[in-house]
Amino acid sequence: MNHKLTVIIIEDEKNICTFIETTLSAHDYKAVSAYSGKEGLSYITSLCPDIVLLDLGLPDIDGMDIIRKVREFSSVPILVISARIGENEKVQALDAGADDYITKPFGTSELLARIRTALRHSQMSANTPKNVEASYRSGDLTINFEKRLVTIADQEIHLTQIEYKLVSLLALNAGKVLTYDFIINHIWGPYADSNNQILRVNMAHIRRKMEENPADPKYISTEIGVGYRMREPDN
Ligand code: CA
Repeated sequence: MNHKLTVIIIEDEKNICTFIETTLSAHDYKAVSAYSGKEGLSYITSLCPDIVLLDLGLPDIDGMDIIRKVREFSSVPILVISARIGENEKVQALDAGADDYITKPFGTSELLARIRTALRHSQMSANTPKNVEASYRSGDLTINFEKRLVTIADQEIHLTQIEYKLVSLLALNAGKVLTYDFIINHIWGPYADSNNQILRVNMAHIRRKMEENPADPKYISTEIGVGYRMREPDN
């Protein structure tokens, strides 16, 4: 039968490990728990997992150091699970190489959705980049990357060059939070002023053009103090 996807959970709270293990096993994943950073790192090396769930507050090794260590040898998706994680920590974790984060307490469906997103992105980047879908569709919004055409309910949305770059960058990473610095780097280059003002202004324009209610956006949400996340595509 199918090869099960392996998930390693690095978390010192055993009841949380048990909850995640039970949930994941019921959804056909193979879940393995490590209760310390040291154990977690050795499982990552020996089991070659498909995804890692990582608590940042571990008794022996700082979670950020684990992310950095893993990134020295592996591109396995890392989903940070943490209680009351601060904005700075989120940005630090993402910049250190984590793929996403989920804040405790979280429900089963949120956890499964985040895992699916992280896996989808890692499979996408494993394939040749040209293999990426030619379009993105979510609700009324469609983006045709070849034609550089953005429509809402079949009505063309006129975006500037920069606005289009922003929307397509987010759409190609849909479901995943992109940090302000990551976006600025990609759009304006490494020498750009790292203040977010220009990004915020552009995002406000995009929302005015794309969103029915720009104050309560449907397609691109703000992760306060961290960055932006585009809604998952419909499939
Ligand atoms: Ca902990």
